[in-house]
Amino acid sequence: MIATENITINKIKNSRLPKVDLNNVPFGSVLSDHMLVSNYINGEWQPSVIEPFGDITISPAMLALHYGQIVFEGMKAFKMKDGSVSIFRMEKHYDRFCKSMERMCIPPMSYEHFNEAMKALVKVDAAWVPGSEGSSLYIRPFVFASEERFGVKVAEEYKFIIFSGPVGPYYSNPLKVKVEDKYRRAASGGTGSAKCAGNYGGAFYPSSLARKQGFDQVLWTDGSSELNIEESGTMNVLFMINNVLVTPSLSDSILDGITRDSFITIAKDMGIKVEERKIGADELISAHGKGILQEAFGTGTAAVVAPIQLISIKGKDYTLPAIKDDNVALKIKQRLLDIRVGAAPDKNNWNTIVKQ
Ligand SMILES: *Cc1c(COP(=O)(O)O)cnc(C)c1O
Repeated sequence: MIATENITINKIKNSRLPKVDLNNVPFGSVLSDHMLVSNYINGEWQPSVIEPFGDITISPAMLALHYGQIVFEGMKAFKMKDGSVSIFRMEKHYDRFCKSMERMCIPPMSYEHFNEAMKALVKVDAAWVPGSEGSSLYIRPFVFASEERFGVKVAEEYKFIIFSGPVGPYYSNPLKVKVEDKYRRAASGGTGSAKCAGNYGGAFYPSSLARKQGFDQVLWTDGSSELNIEESGTMNVLFMINNVLVTPSLSDSILDGITRDSFITIAKDMGIKVEERKIGADELISAHGKGILQEAFGTGTAAVVAPIQLISIKGKDYTLPAIKDDNVALKIKQRLLDIRVGAAPDKNNWNTIVKQ
């Protein structure tokens, strides 16, 4: 039995919802009415408070601003066919949040604390969950070192905040990507498998250089001479090679994406062969030469799927077959969307119903 925590709720006086067209919101620009805040002080996570979304006051000497103890999650809540509201794969997101926090030396948070906080916030802003296909409520839990102190040390105070915002279907144009052979997103032994803010800051520069060269993003590698592929931008990467779904096996320099995991599970369920293993640049070149590099795509919570149309390796461009409706990526994406809204059976208990 999960103990129900006492969450204080200070509701907004005038909801901003009437001014928003829920079926037409640019990604990442509209915020729901409320946020949830819980502070870690005196060695404990304090009870959560839900309040109107708004600015917070911080000290310029706040440790997170200087030494980067910041981790986050990104997940979605959906309006189900029967009108209820469900959070997708919340437990797996919680597990990853815990791993990220541990890697960044942030004190652990119980599942009860996280679970009650998530459910309470989504319930309060349930009217913000869009109902049109492909739309959802994007939820952003994060935690950062809030202690005011400028000496280098592990903080003793933290702030956990969750906010959300409605998002429409995120259509990604087929991407042109460049296999990055100079910069690395993450190194073995580093923080690549933690969802920490610094990984993003460090990736912006190489990505912007790639954009100047005419690419949409980079395919990160392990930096070895084999150029083993790791991720695509801020997404995991999957390939269809000779009718097998191939994706780099997880390591401490690859983020354990929940969309990636969902794709693998659904693919197996659909009878598609899946291989998690190393994929070097040479294999991509040779598969392309033989005409068996059928698909390449990124997966992540925001876009679900971002198809790749061109891969550049050491200055040479390899064009993939045109994206068609019967592509494996799109078939799995549709099944995933169906599971999320209750239009296909939820065999693995991925949906957490928060409001009937
Ligand atoms: C969040 C993230 C992903 C995708 O993870 P999902 O759980 O599928 O959203 C992939 N790579 C990186 C680097 C990420 O930060």
